[in-house]
Amino acid sequence: MSKKVLVIGESREGSLRNVTFEAIAAANIISDGGEVVGVLCGAGDMEAMGQEMVYHGATRVITLANEELKTYTSDGFSQAIFQVIEDESPEGIVMGHTAIGKDLTPKLASKLESGLISDATEVVAEGDKIVFTRPIYSGKAFEKKEITDGVVFATIRPNNIPALERNEELAGEVSARDVDIQNIRTIIKDIIRKSSEGVDLSEAKVIVAGGRGVKSSEGFEPLEQLADVLGGTVGASRGACDAGYCDYSLQIGQTGKVVTPDLYIACGISGAIQHLAGMSNSKVIVAINKDPEANIFNVADYGIVGDLFDVVPKLVEEIKQMKV
Ligand code: FAD
Repeated sequence: MSKKVLVIGESREGSLRNVTFEAIAAANIISDGGEVVGVLCGAGDMEAMGQEMVYHGATRVITLANEELKTYTSDGFSQAIFQVIEDESPEGIVMGHTAIGKDLTPKLASKLESGLISDATEVVAEGDKIVFTRPIYSGKAFEKKEITDGVVFATIRPNNIPALERNEELAGEVSARDVDIQNIRTIIKDIIRKSSEGVDLSEAKVIVAGGRGVKSSEGFEPLEQLADVLGGTVGASRGACDAGYCDYSLQIGQTGKVVTPDLYIACGISGAIQHLAGMSNSKVIVAINKDPEANIFNVADYGIVGDLFDVVPKLVEEIKQMKV
C-alpha cells in the first residue's frame, strides 16, 4: 500500500549531506510509489538544496527558513518539523542516523507517540510490511524490526543504503513554508569545528585509521598521505586519542563515531572490541599490524603483518604509480 513519507534533510555549510539522499532512497522503498516529501530547516534561500532533493527522488520539498533555524537546536528544529508533520500527516518519516538525527528523532517520535527504529542499515519491503535491519550488541549481530502500528519512523546509518542516481529530469515542487518558533531554551553562541578539513568521518568512503602503534602525532603523517591518495580521510582508535596523537573528533568505536566506509585501513590498531563496534561493518577492512596475533586480523579481509612505517609509505608510492 503506498504511503506518504517525510524525509528530514540535513545540510552543512550550504550543502546537503549525502545521508539525505540515502534517506530519500529509503523513503522511496517505504512509500511504495506514494509521495516522498522532503523537509529542510535552515535560514536564507534553500531552493537549490530543495531542488537537489528532488533530483535524488523526492516528490516535492518543503523548506523552512527562519533565523532561529540557522543552527541546529532540538527545540527549534522539532517545533518547525512538527508543524509540517501536522500539515502533512505522513505515514512514514526517515532521517539520517547522524548526531542531529539521533537528537531530533526521539523527540519527534515521543511527540507523535510513535515507535522509532534507529540506525537501520537496510530497508526492505516485504508485501505490506517494511522490514528494517539494524545492528545490536555493538555490531556483533543484526536484528530485523518492523513498526506494526502508526508512523513508520526510522533513522538510517550513513553509507549503507545506496542513494538513487541523480536525475535532473525529475520534477517536483520546492515550496517555502513559514514556521512559528518560540521558547528556544538553547542558545548557540559559537561553533568551533575540531576537524575543519577532510570528509566527514561517518560519510567517508575510505578511512585510514591510526592507533597507538602510530606512536606520535607526526606518525599520522604517512596515514594522511595514504588517505590523500585514496581520496579518503583519517580516523583513529581511542588509544591514539588518549595518547594525545590526535583529536577525539577522530575517534572511531563504541564511544566514538560509527563508520561504514567502502574501505577501512587500520594501522597499528589492536582491534579491541570497543574499536570493532565502530568499524566492523565496513565493506572491506585492511589491517596493518606488526603483531600477527592482533585481534584486528580476525575482522580484516586483508591483513599485512609488518611495521606500518614501512608498509604505509610503500602503499602510497604504489598507489601513486597506479594513478600515473
Ligand atoms: P593498542 O591496543 O595499544 O594497540 C596498538 C597496536 O599497534 C598493537 O596491536 C601493536 O601490535 C600495533 N603496533 C605497534 N607498533 C606498530 C607498528 N610500528 N606497525 C604496525 N603495528 C604496530 N577504543 C576505541 O578505539 N574506540 C572506542 O570508542 C573505545 N571506547 C571504549 C569504551 C570503553 C567503555 C572502554 C573501557 C574502552 C574503550 N576503548 C575504545 C578502548 C579500547 O578498549 C582499547 O584500549 C583501544 O581501542 C586500544 O587502542 P589501540 O588499538 O590503538 O592501541
